[in-house]
Amino acid sequence: MQKAFTLFSLKKRIIAIILVISFIFCSLVVRLFVLQVVNGKKLQFKATDQWTRDLSIVAPRGTIYDRTGSPLAESYTTYNVYVRAREVKEMSQTAMNLSQLLGLSFESTYNKIRETKASEVLIKMQVEGEIAEKIYNLKMPGVYLAENSNRYYNYGNLLTQVLGFISVDNEGQTGIEAYYNDLLKGEDGCSYVQSDLQGKEIGGSLRYYIPANPGKDITLSIESKMQLILEQTLEKIMIEQKAKAVNGILLNAHTGEVLSMSSKPSFDLNEVPRDDLTTLFEQSKVKVATDVYEPGSTFKILTVAAALEAGVTSLEDRFYCPGYRVIDGIRIKCWRTIGHGSQTLTEAFANSCNCCFMDLALRLGVDRFYSYMEKFGLGHKTAGYLWIRNRLKMLTLQEWGSGMQLP
Ligand SMILES: [Zn+2]
Repeated sequence: MQKAFTLFSLKKRIIAIILVISFIFCSLVVRLFVLQVVNGKKLQFKATDQWTRDLSIVAPRGTIYDRTGSPLAESYTTYNVYVRAREVKEMSQTAMNLSQLLGLSFESTYNKIRETKASEVLIKMQVEGEIAEKIYNLKMPGVYLAENSNRYYNYGNLLTQVLGFISVDNEGQTGIEAYYNDLLKGEDGCSYVQSDLQGKEIGGSLRYYIPANPGKDITLSIESKMQLILEQTLEKIMIEQKAKAVNGILLNAHTGEVLSMSSKPSFDLNEVPRDDLTTLFEQSKVKVATDVYEPGSTFKILTVAAALEAGVTSLEDRFYCPGYRVIDGIRIKCWRTIGHGSQTLTEAFANSCNCCFMDLALRLGVDRFYSYMEKFGLGHKTAGYLWIRNRLKMLTLQEWGSGMQLP
């Protein structure tokens, strides 16, 4: 009886042990499956992130040229200086060298280097190439340099609204810099090194260097000499007329190309007033393109062209200006209130006489007048805009595929 009980109990125990082992084994298989297959990619990414230290290499932004090939906005390289504290051999000597070369206080540099919690600390941004080279030549363990791209606007205060400016992260904020950001920006590169748990570089380990892909260059229809003349003229007018703002544009009459375009007041693109957002926003607007304005006397050119084309007048045709006309019961003055008297169309045009042009519009009649304005393209997007759009289409087809979205 005793023996049977023992046997039975032994058999039971063996079964129980087998079940427990099977359960543990199955659990392990499931866990392995989850780790390897379900979460494999995510974990591998995390592990790579832990095993490697990376420094980004900022892509140099494309240059913006004027139509003659003169650079308007260029990028140049500066360096960010990093320290990986755990790799530093001589703490105070490294701090001394860096503080002297970078013009920093010894105490703050030393304290930053002593900071071992972070895998790396930024010591200084935008260090010039010459100084960066001196730092590099000292071959101090734990000191790293990362390339950085900076923007320089060769004419500073010129073309402020058209060119626009970029953020500290190299992203276009306004103007051409923002509109063509995807083209100009390029793709950042990276350098990876394998590191141990504490973030120290593993001796003889693999190093990866993915070079940055520089941004594309852009050539504008702008002519910088004409732009300079326009901007100087606008500034002069603003002072003379005590105006709050002045806008101007020069177009090629045959093609609609924008040769120069400006709004005053403006700011220096090399010293963007980032802390005064209201001024920044107001002075960044390309007002000649964004705001509506009443054409006034410039509209007379269209009226006379339509009237000559329709044959309702000729250059020798005579007009009489008493200083006003009454149209539909409303008295509309000529700018010369005492009147221009009798004049030919050519003279009236030179005088910018309102009465003559009221007569021309009346002769054309409402329907014909509107039909001509329609043919001149009023009420449609400008030829300049279309020109830019077509040029961009060519650019996109040649270099970028058809991926870019046009407005
Ligand atoms: Zn007149």
